[in-house]
Amino acid sequence: MNDAKLILERCDELATLSSEPDRMVRVHLSRQHKTANELVAGWMSEAGLTTWQDAAGNQCGRVEGREPGLPALLLGSHIDTVPDAGRYDGMLGVLLAIAVAGRLDAGTLPFAIEVVAFSDEEGTRFGTALLGSRALSGTWNDDWWNFTDTDGISLFEAFHDFGLDPARLPGAFRRPEEFVGYLEAHIEQGPFLEDADRALGVVTSIAGARRLEFTMIGKAGHAGGSPYDRRKDALVGASELVVEIERISKLRGVIGTVGKLEVFPGGVNVIPGRVEFTIDLRAEFDDERDAALELFMSAAEVIAGRRGLQFHSRELYRADAVVCDLDLRAGIEAGIRAAGDADPMAIWSRAGHDGMAVCAITPIAMLFVRCKGGISHHPDEHVRVADVAAAVTAFEAAVLALAATAA
Ligand SMILES: [Zn+2]
Repeated sequence: MNDAKLILERCDELATLSSEPDRMVRVHLSRQHKTANELVAGWMSEAGLTTWQDAAGNQCGRVEGREPGLPALLLGSHIDTVPDAGRYDGMLGVLLAIAVAGRLDAGTLPFAIEVVAFSDEEGTRFGTALLGSRALSGTWNDDWWNFTDTDGISLFEAFHDFGLDPARLPGAFRRPEEFVGYLEAHIEQGPFLEDADRALGVVTSIAGARRLEFTMIGKAGHAGGSPYDRRKDALVGASELVVEIERISKLRGVIGTVGKLEVFPGGVNVIPGRVEFTIDLRAEFDDERDAALELFMSAAEVIAGRRGLQFHSRELYRADAVVCDLDLRAGIEAGIRAAGDADPMAIWSRAGHDGMAVCAITPIAMLFVRCKGGISHHPDEHVRVADVAAAVTAFEAAVLALAATAA
């Protein structure tokens, strides 16, 4: 229980590192990110890890196994947040990993233990997610350097401002032979554990997600001067499409969300001439997801055609579903049983996670921790201290179970 309390206190401490006074937001390569890395590095050192910040701003730590230089079992999560975030999504997994690394007698293990606090998972600042874990897994795309934040600062410039050298980025890339696997603990971000009255769950797969920007173009004009039959109102067309996206999503059992919508020129007495909005689409299986997107596209064409609008789409992000490794999953299940739940509940993750990138170099598995009301990406995110204590027990036992099978 002491470990759990400490983890929650540290989540509170990290939650003070926000770039806005009235709400929590900590983005990639911000001043608050730098301070968060320093705090995390201090906690890693206390847990007996050797620490470094890698060339992508990921905060890393390592403790050797029974001999130096063994491949590592990587434990971790991310420390960036969405705007108006809670304090557990990501951070809980980092702090759990540090606590477990500190509890283990690493010198007896057949692998090293590494802990990572990924610099960017949410994609809040530059619009593309998993920048930290894409760097570590060597699946970096140099096109990303030109991506800009809302202040027009490019990722390239942000690296420099943070004290990182973009030219050295390949130094963050890690090779498959350096790892035996990756385990991440994370809040569930859904209601299924709570509904089943369970503290913990084992993840079967991480859903594939696609994010797109849709643009409807009509014709701006004076609100008083244009009769309805001559209007090309981009916002009314976009609104119809937003409702259609919800209808299709429910019908097809996928999750489609319009989270951001901008109206141009944005005058109170001006007919909207252009609307840009985003769609986040996810499903258990990639083919279901892609079929739903086809339906969104045809609905958009029909609506645009009927209203005399032009329609464009642009893909911002795409990640295919990732299946958790069966051996690592067995380790997580052994851990959950060690924490007192004889029949671990299996869940597919609706949310994306760093494992989607890390799986390029090493097998992955995840432990889910119940969160109140299934709420995440919101200040009301909440976890019970007893559940965190169970997660510490389970995560440590999972590592030991994997050590026993590897030995
Ligand atoms: Zn997360």
